[in-house]
Amino acid sequence: MSQVRVRFAPSPTGFFHIGSARTALFNWLYARHTGGVFVLRIEDTDQARNSDEYLRLIYDSLRWLGLDWDEGPEAGGAVGPYRQSERAALYREYLQKLKDSGRAYEKDGAVYFRLLGDRHEVFDEHRKKTVVKVRNTPVVIDDMIRGRVERLEDEDFVIFRSDGNPVFHFVNVVDDIAMGITHVIRGEDHLSNASKHIELFRALGAPVPRYAHIPLILKQSGPGKMSKRDKGALVEEYRARGFLPEALVNFLSLLGWNPGDDREKMAVAEVIRLFDFPGVNQSNARFDEKKLAHMNMLYLLELPADRFVALAGEHFARRPEEAPAQALADPAYFREVMLLSQPKVKGIDELPAYTRYFFTEDYPVDAKAVEKALSRGDPKARLRELDEALRTADFSSDTKLEETIKAVAAKAGLGFGDYQGPARLAVSGTGVGPNLTGLFRVLGRDRVLRRIERFLGA
Ligand code: GLU
Repeated sequence: MSQVRVRFAPSPTGFFHIGSARTALFNWLYARHTGGVFVLRIEDTDQARNSDEYLRLIYDSLRWLGLDWDEGPEAGGAVGPYRQSERAALYREYLQKLKDSGRAYEKDGAVYFRLLGDRHEVFDEHRKKTVVKVRNTPVVIDDMIRGRVERLEDEDFVIFRSDGNPVFHFVNVVDDIAMGITHVIRGEDHLSNASKHIELFRALGAPVPRYAHIPLILKQSGPGKMSKRDKGALVEEYRARGFLPEALVNFLSLLGWNPGDDREKMAVAEVIRLFDFPGVNQSNARFDEKKLAHMNMLYLLELPADRFVALAGEHFARRPEEAPAQALADPAYFREVMLLSQPKVKGIDELPAYTRYFFTEDYPVDAKAVEKALSRGDPKARLRELDEALRTADFSSDTKLEETIKAVAAKAGLGFGDYQGPARLAVSGTGVGPNLTGLFRVLGRDRVLRRIERFLGA
């Protein structure tokens, strides 16, 4: 069999949507699975709605997700250029072919594609006008996901508008022919176009590619398809929140596909190995942001320390309003704080608030935690005992700190837990956080003692 050639063909007319990312991903996965070629083609014929900013965003988002293209803008390739706005001469050439074979004609300034078959006029109730219908047999779309789908094309359709610009159907098919595309993998919203496209392939004497129309992504809740306006619909948004691209890729790969068992967390190499069309569902996939957040947390947990700290640093730099200015002043301390928090947060975006008290004395005190920590016995007396012992304790290791606290507790006939709540509250203002000994070690003796003493004095 000849080599698989697939393409992702976005139009740069808006932000990069989760649905577009999933279409790009399925194309890329199929190319990598089959050892084929992944082409990026920019469908930018709609000059009024295109923007360079959106074009950049497509490149940036694909690169961020790790979806490298073998041919396309900035990569080159033998059948370029890969932006439709640069391919006008080719479209005229193909139009001429259709005209020469009698399959295109002009009417009222526009150019129409002529279907084969007898014609007759009928009055269309809906459009309130007489139209020419063609006796045609239904086009069969043999879809790798949907199976056999039939659609009747019984009216000639416009391929060049009266302003001289070619129509989507035409350029899409011409490019798929000229770029040797073997498989068209795209959103199900294009299934209704496939019959027109197949008519065009045939009229141009080209083999029809295999089709795979991917089911839609449904909104988080309620009926209906996810749209660009829905919350959580943009790739950019997850990137700005510090999500990990590998988590998003894993999540997106499961939006409509499954490996045949109920595995969820899978390295991309494993997804590539298993990805194929029998595994893509016919039913629509529901977007579940909680599942994405959970997936992200699983990846964060096992992220190598250097990368976690680097991502956290980028996030703090990007959101200066969310963290004290001094947070990034001492890189070694920042690193310790972040690594202590890594197993505790669900997302990078939680870190500024979660770690605030490490970097400033101006942190909130949780009233509920105060009530809880001070409810039993004489916690202030316990804190005084602890304060005393911590003056000479070894702050360099969690184990030694734990021994110190346990010894204080044992002397009073109490347990570690009796000291934990009040101590945590005194040094961090909260009832939750990293383990107490790690917290002490990273904050360091000076801060810990100062805060306990301030708390006792208050
Ligand atoms: N430019 C079209 C879109 O963004 C591509 C359609 C196709 O993949 O054939 O939906």
